[in-house]
Amino acid sequence: MYKDFRSDTVTQATPDMRKAMLEAVVGDDILGEDPTVKQLEEVSAAMFGKEAAVLMVSGTMANQTAIMALTQLGDEIIVGEETHIYNLEVGALAALASVQARPIPSYSGCFDSKIVKKFIRNREVQSPVSRVLCLENTYDLNRGYPLSPAYQAEMAHLAHENGMSVYLDGARIFNAAEALQVDVKQLAKDIDALQFCLTKGLAAPFGSLLLGTKEFVEKARWIKQRLGGGMRQAGHMAAAGIVALKTMRGRLQEDHANALRMAKGLAGINDGLVDIEQVKTNIVQIEFESVGKDAAFITEALLKQQIKVKPISPTACRMITHWGITEQDVDFAIETIRKIVK
Ligand SMILES: *Cc1c(COP(=O)(O)O)cnc(C)c1O
Repeated sequence: MYKDFRSDTVTQATPDMRKAMLEAVVGDDILGEDPTVKQLEEVSAAMFGKEAAVLMVSGTMANQTAIMALTQLGDEIIVGEETHIYNLEVGALAALASVQARPIPSYSGCFDSKIVKKFIRNREVQSPVSRVLCLENTYDLNRGYPLSPAYQAEMAHLAHENGMSVYLDGARIFNAAEALQVDVKQLAKDIDALQFCLTKGLAAPFGSLLLGTKEFVEKARWIKQRLGGGMRQAGHMAAAGIVALKTMRGRLQEDHANALRMAKGLAGINDGLVDIEQVKTNIVQIEFESVGKDAAFITEALLKQQIKVKPISPTACRMITHWGITEQDVDFAIETIRKIVK
């Protein structure tokens, strides 16, 4: 059995989810007649303190649908340089949403408000309109920084002051809430629209929820349908999502403890391997330059010992903890890496 640390997306449906999927009461969701989808949408909206929610096929589709709903052709959106929406959605901002992305640097996951201000354009006849400020929480899928409600409020204030909307890609928002010990309502409070994934640490097989005002969600439903995201008896997938929200949020602290255990263990081998300070949620970035090894060599050597990791640069790898990884798996990985780098 492989110990798969590449991502928390490799998690598979729990026995409770499988049972719920089998027994789900369903209907045609495009006709608005699937009670299980409706239930998941209502539970999600209430959990985040938003007016409405819509079930989407994926986080990528949720992000792109949101941007389409919040912008007009040729608008500009400000996005972090390390974000999913900018780097890992196959250029959909340009190809589908017809907006221009203005990437901005971040410091431990946060934008500098002075730089954001500088990046917001004056309304002039030759300039694109700065329309949306995009946040991500946790920020950077190779780091997983949790962003505080205070920081989000500061960014939202800045955007709103300049007539812009704030969109939050909250793929791992429950990890952020756990790390900060805050309710997700606090992380949604100043945000106009957001999405979260059921498929990461929550281990459901598919789906994301897109949330915001009633008006926003109505528009998003229409765009979702245009993109081919309308699903018929989607209650079978919603049923797993309801179980995920009920049963999987409370255990994310285990993943965070395991990530920290991994970071400390690796720092004990060589303190150039990880920056413990940066490990706040379930993601550990390992830099092998200090031990003179490259990422391809390490990845290959670990694979022979049944451990999967993700190379993210010529000299660095990423390891993510999740429901399928135990404390013993972490210790085994640390000891295996110790032997490989010696
Ligand atoms: C996984 C992820 C997404 C996309 O979700 P998919 O369901 O894989 O399309 C978006 N943003 C972030 C930060 C993610 O980690």
